[in-house]
Amino acid sequence: MNDKSVFSRIYDGEIPSEIIHENDHFFVIKDINPKATTHLLIITKEPITDIHEFTANSPAAEALVKTIQEVGEMLEKPEYRIQINCGASEGQEVFHLHIHLLSKSKLKSIA
Ligand code: AMP
Repeated sequence: MNDKSVFSRIYDGEIPSEIIHENDHFFVIKDINPKATTHLLIITKEPITDIHEFTANSPAAEALVKTIQEVGEMLEKPEYRIQINCGASEGQEVFHLHIHLLSKSKLKSIA
């Protein structure tokens, strides 16, 4: 049985997806079922299953705010909201920590 999350399988190249941004702790893909003009998923490279595994002084937790800012700067207008479905949240699909970033703005086009 393969118990890797769909996101780990994407990062490992086993499922096709375009990684549009990454840094030491996170990678970013477009949500396959977008709920906004731009709907991105900011995903931990480490397969953390629940936000409660994040401690305030963990390197990934420290990098999270900066990563959200980095992704916000990829938008034509840096206006967005974020959503984290955590642990036992109703309807959560993928148990690998990810942050939804939703915006009415488009991504800047890359020349
Ligand atoms: P949730 O676990 O409910 O916070 O959301 C998981 C999100 O992952 C959903 O919005 C799905 O549309 C998205 N998703 C699932 N599989 C893929 C995939 N292969 N590529 C991109 N997004 C995906």
